[in-house]
Amino acid sequence: MRILLVEDDPMIGAAVADGLRGAGYAVDWVQDGHAGSRALAADTPYALLVLDIGLPGRDGLSLLRELRGRGGSLPVLLMTARDAVSDRVGGLDAGADDYLVKPFDLDELLARARALLRRAAGRADPVLSHGRLRLDPAAHLAWLDDAQLTLSAREFALLHALLERPGAVLSRAQLEERLYGWNESVGSNAVEVHIHHLRRKLGDGAIRNVRGVGYTLGSDQPETS
Ligand code: CA
Repeated sequence: MRILLVEDDPMIGAAVADGLRGAGYAVDWVQDGHAGSRALAADTPYALLVLDIGLPGRDGLSLLRELRGRGGSLPVLLMTARDAVSDRVGGLDAGADDYLVKPFDLDELLARARALLRRAAGRADPVLSHGRLRLDPAAHLAWLDDAQLTLSAREFALLHALLERPGAVLSRAQLEERLYGWNESVGSNAVEVHIHHLRRKLGDGAIRNVRGVGYTLGSDQPETS
């Protein structure tokens, strides 16, 4: 899952970016309003926008209005100053989904992010499941039946992306875009390698290769190998 962070404060931005990455998200961080606008106008499949209001260039609320004005439904979590009730009201009315008041606890930011991602996916249950697979984004755990899986951060992110939309076929490029941020180098066969490792752990039938299109979760029940 890839998140766009727009925050000009270097300390807050670094802490939020590190926290999100530590939770397994790919993060693109920009530090002014114009860069935020350009990032939103690009075709990157962000799952969430974490947006500061006071920004150099142009402010967060104008970015938000621009996004909603062209029909963008990306979930938006605002970060606002403690005393600015008018910012929070204005932000929610401009189309933000939730807000955090600075200073905030990183755990709360992660929990609110998960709640927004859940809601955007139309789920109420925090645990994703498909067949014999279950994945808990908050605890960062996954299971095949009752056996807890040992997955690398990328394997977990890949499985998470597939479980978010169990019926969808995701191309290698789409998976790369969801798994890696701007500053991360992606090996040419990185996704294939992670898929290969996941299949070894989940069984060959767990992830199906749709030739020429991409990958999807198997409809059959995975066999452990
Ligand atoms: Ca700011």
